[in-house]
Order: sequence, then C-alpha cells, then structure tokens
Amino acid sequence: MDHISIDIKSMTIPELEGYLKNLGQPKFRAKQIFSWLHDKRVLSFDEMTNLPAALREGLKNDCEITAFTTERKLCSALDGTIKYLYRLSDGEYVESVLMRYEHGNSLCISTQVGCRMGCSFCASTKAGFVRHLTPSEILEQVYSAARDTGERVGSIVLMGIGEPLDNFDNVMRFLELVASPEGLNLSHRHISLSTCGLVDRIYELADMDLQITLSISLHATTDETRDQIMPVNRKWKIGELLTACRYYTDKTHRRISYEYSLISGVNDSQEQAAELAALLKGTLCHVNLIPINYVEEAGYEKSSRQRIYAFQKTLCDRGVNATVRRTLGADIDAACGQLRRQALR
Ligand code: SAH
Repeated sequence: MDHISIDIKSMTIPELEGYLKNLGQPKFRAKQIFSWLHDKRVLSFDEMTNLPAALREGLKNDCEITAFTTERKLCSALDGTIKYLYRLSDGEYVESVLMRYEHGNSLCISTQVGCRMGCSFCASTKAGFVRHLTPSEILEQVYSAARDTGERVGSIVLMGIGEPLDNFDNVMRFLELVASPEGLNLSHRHISLSTCGLVDRIYELADMDLQITLSISLHATTDETRDQIMPVNRKWKIGELLTACRYYTDKTHRRISYEYSLISGVNDSQEQAAELAALLKGTLCHVNLIPINYVEEAGYEKSSRQRIYAFQKTLCDRGVNATVRRTLGADIDAACGQLRRQALR
C-alpha cells in the first residue's frame, strides 16, 4: 500500500466538513463522525451505523482511527492507581497513569515518545527522543482509560513522557479536541500542563488565554544548580522563566503551580527553601513538593521526610503556599518513563 492514511481522530469538525465536502457528502456528516470518534469513542467505521455503507467503505480506505494495543496494565494494590503501557501503531511505546482521588479520577498522559530536554533526574529522557505524539495519540490515552475503567476521567495532567511545549501544535490541538462540546467536553480548568520552562512557548500560550493550569518544573533556586540538573536553563535563566510566568498570570489570571522535586543534598536545604520563598513571594502560585523518584543512572537520593517537611514549613512561614505531594502507585513503578524503559530493554 502506498497511500498515506488520514488521521481522522486528529481532525476538528470544520476540517471534517472540508474533507467530506470533497467527497460530495453533506455537512452534517462531519458532526456525526466526530461524535462517533470523540463522544461514543468507537474504534471502527463499521460501528458508525448512521452513515451510508458506501461512505463507511470510503472512510475505511482513506482513514485510520488511532488505537493502541495495551502492552501492560499494572494496578496498585495500595491505592488503585493504574499504569498503562501502550504500543502505538508504529511499535513505539507510551505510558499513562490513572490516579484516584477523592474528587475523582485524574489521568497523567504523555505527549512525546521520549524527550529531548535532558533533565538529569528524569527517566523519560534517558532513552532519548523518538517522535512527537499526534493529537489523536494524546487523546486516545484519555479515551482508552475511560473505556478500560468504564469511569469518568475528571481531570488530566500533561505530566507523562515528553515536554508538552516542545510538541506545541499537537498539544494545542489536543486541548481543543478534548474540550469540544461534541466530544469529551472536558473543561480546560481541569487540565494541567507541565513544562520544564520553554519560555518562548509560555508567552505564546499566555496569549492564547486558555483556562488551563500551567505547572512549571522549577526544581532549583539558582541558575548554577538549575543549569546542572536541567539543561533548558542554559538557554533561559530562572529570572527569564519567572518573568514569563508573571506574564502568564497577568494575562490569564490563573494561579501557576511550581513543581519542586527534592533531591537530597542538591536542592533541599533550609537556605534553598528561603531562596525559593524569596523568588515566588507575592506571585499567584502554589508549590508542589515532590520526593524525587529513584532513577538508576541519576544516582540521586530522596530527601528525608523530615527535610521535606522542614522545607515546606519554611515556604509556608514565608507566605508561599506549598504542599507535599502524596506518592501514588509506589508498588507499580508509576513514575514517568519507567515502564517504557523496561519494555525497551
Ligand atoms: N516535560 C514536562 C512534563 C513531564 S515531567 C516537565 O518537565 O514539566 C513531569 C514532572 O515530573 C516534572 O516536574 C518533572 O521535572 C518531574 N520528574 C521527572 N523525573 C522525576 C523524578 N525522578 N522524580 C521526581 N520528579 C520527577
């Protein structure tokens, strides 16, 4: 076969209308097809029973409906967290994690196969970068989890494998599709996007004025330390990053959330807690303190509980909101990138 299939699940309704017009089809078919793909979330054209048979055959020839094979599924006996390892149509792997909270299910999804940001503590980047995920591959992680559990996915965090702002256009299209009233209809207010700090893209995102929560992976209080653990900091310094964040809050009036993974002896001292408080004081923000997850090559150690809570106290005493993130799925290697790495070995 030498024809390229159309990725129909990545198309918006106006795009579907344009495509169907070329096939001589009426406009209303676009909404019907969109609803099959994004509301009923079927995986074959045969199930689209309100379409004429000839159109279904035509679509089968031209288009592909993005679907995954579940390679592994791990359920935590501790807290019900489910980790999925999916195989994509080209044989690559991607991971998602479903976390269960009192307020509902939250799904952590991936945006790239691998990552090219090179953070020294992160498993996702160790195996290198392969490719961007398409909008439909980002979406299908949400649909697969909903289909598998039969439960609602109430919120989404773009915190799995990959740097979302490095795959900007596909991620923006994903955000448009997932919020579509004819589809899953998930409000942007229930979506968090986490970035290591691609400053040019943060400005671009701010100007789009979306209602998503922006999460910044900060992890250090000085350029010296951040340069060492996060190569992106060699391009954009902490000062430039925080200026972009201020622009983001001014534009969107959304609270920014800062991720700070505590690494013993690297970024977890009382002095660093005070520095962090000084950097963030007076800004509309929240700090998530995360005990670093062990990654083989990195050789970093988790900070002790005592040190983590002392760090939090210093922040709070200085007027900066901070919580210590609960570790979920500790028994199933739920941290990003770990299953994909095992599968590659
Ligand atoms: N690329 C994006 C999103 C993916 S990583 C980003 O950098 O934000 C999701 C979060 O997990 C980031 O805050 C990242 O820095 C953090 N992280 C990566 N490896 C970790 C580890 N070993 N322990 C704790 N947090 C880690």
